[in-house]
Amino acid sequence: MEITVIGAGLAGCEAAWQIAQNGGEVQLVEMKPQKYTPAHQSPNFAELICSNSLKAERIDSAAGLLKEEMYRMGSLLVSCARHTRVPAGGALAVDRAQFSTMVTEKIRSNPHIHCVQKECTEIPKDGIVVVATGPLTSEALAAQIDRLCGGCLRFYDAAAPIVTAESLDRSRIFAASRYNKGSGEDYLNCPMNKEEYETFYTELLHAERAPLHGCDVQDPKVYEGCMPVEVMAQRGPDTIRFGPLKPVGLRDPHTGHRPWAVVQLRREDAAGTLFNLVGFQTNLKFGEQKRVFGLIPGLSHAEFVRYGVMHRNTFLNAPKVLDSTFQLRKEPRLFFAGQMTGVEGYMESASSGLLAGRNALRLQQGLPLLTPPKTTMTGALARWVQFGGEGDYQPMGANFGVMPPIEPHIRDKRERYAAISQRALQDLQTFQQENGWSAPTEEI
Ligand code: FAD
Repeated sequence: MEITVIGAGLAGCEAAWQIAQNGGEVQLVEMKPQKYTPAHQSPNFAELICSNSLKAERIDSAAGLLKEEMYRMGSLLVSCARHTRVPAGGALAVDRAQFSTMVTEKIRSNPHIHCVQKECTEIPKDGIVVVATGPLTSEALAAQIDRLCGGCLRFYDAAAPIVTAESLDRSRIFAASRYNKGSGEDYLNCPMNKEEYETFYTELLHAERAPLHGCDVQDPKVYEGCMPVEVMAQRGPDTIRFGPLKPVGLRDPHTGHRPWAVVQLRREDAAGTLFNLVGFQTNLKFGEQKRVFGLIPGLSHAEFVRYGVMHRNTFLNAPKVLDSTFQLRKEPRLFFAGQMTGVEGYMESASSGLLAGRNALRLQQGLPLLTPPKTTMTGALARWVQFGGEGDYQPMGANFGVMPPIEPHIRDKRERYAAISQRALQDLQTFQQENGWSAPTEEI
């Protein structure tokens, strides 16, 4: 019996390929070109709707490790990307038209994938299904998913940056909760004096913003509840000082006084390896975020694992409903994959499709479902989907902060990342050998 995959985007194509290459039959349902989301334009599958970069390629970078793991697990998308690359320094960037054309041809010519062109307005009632309809899922299906997942499908407008704990200058920062409520370790506080605040404020006002995409500019009201910090700053010199940078209830132990303004950092994960800048939703260009937010005391050398972004985005509250196998707990025949599970980025979406597709097939074959070890990037991201971090569930891209630290600690960052990557690839190899989860041998 065919496994249905809905959506031939990055996750859906990878899921369909994994099923077809490993002994299953697939029905792949895609609404293009009959109907387009506000961001899609090409009739081809696996369309890159914004940047053509699939990020860094070095294996000792988080994005590079993710792609290498996917390649070793037989990823269609990584292979097509390597075939359609364009020069881009250390990044794997592709000719977007060639890339999606190649993916489309591979999918369409696979005898085990049966492509159907239609909008799926509801999830098929029978059989195993992988839903991979992306952050811009069409309305009727989105409404059904919303009901199915207990109203946990939601819109998210702008995100604040996330930095690594180890890159913070602790000599400039103090740990405390406002009015000493909660655990003293819940927040880190970056205190500013008047002069530091004024310099920061001026740079923030004049920093360069990223251009909005078509679907984002349609309805500016979308962003009212989640206003970018630079937009709030435009309302007056003290607006953010009475907003996200308010110093009330905080005393700097270094001076014994209340600071003029405070940027709070909130722990992003249970291990405390990642922190987000509270209230710093932003649409500044990435380089500007690094420059301007680097003026905040303690953040001069901050390593950003995720920059703030602003685009319309719909995703599940995955920790409430999904397992790390991408299976829906309450209805095990259903799997979700892609950006809608709360992984962030093209290759992250494809990697979830890879795991969801393999697991959907294993379910059909009566085999136990599997997640790669947590020491691999694919496995760590899958666990993020299952468990999330502290507080509200937030989308997450590949980064070393979601992986367990290497023991003993290696001081040099480059060497440390190389060691984490080496451990990941070794553990992945063992996992693949133990579970017969080998990559298809033939070259794509
Ligand atoms: P998609 O690639 O969007 O695939 C979903 C597919 O499902 C589409 O082909 C769609 O037509 C189809 N579909 C939808 N509803 C139905 C239905 N009811 N029936 C049948 N088919 C349906 N990530 C990056 O790494 N870099 C970026 O530059 C970037 N820019 C982005 C810009 C925008 C505006 C958005 C919204 C997201 C961006 N992302 C970016 C995030 C993310 O990586 C992409 O959204 C990525 O395409 C997600 O992959 P996916 O497979 O989950 O969804």
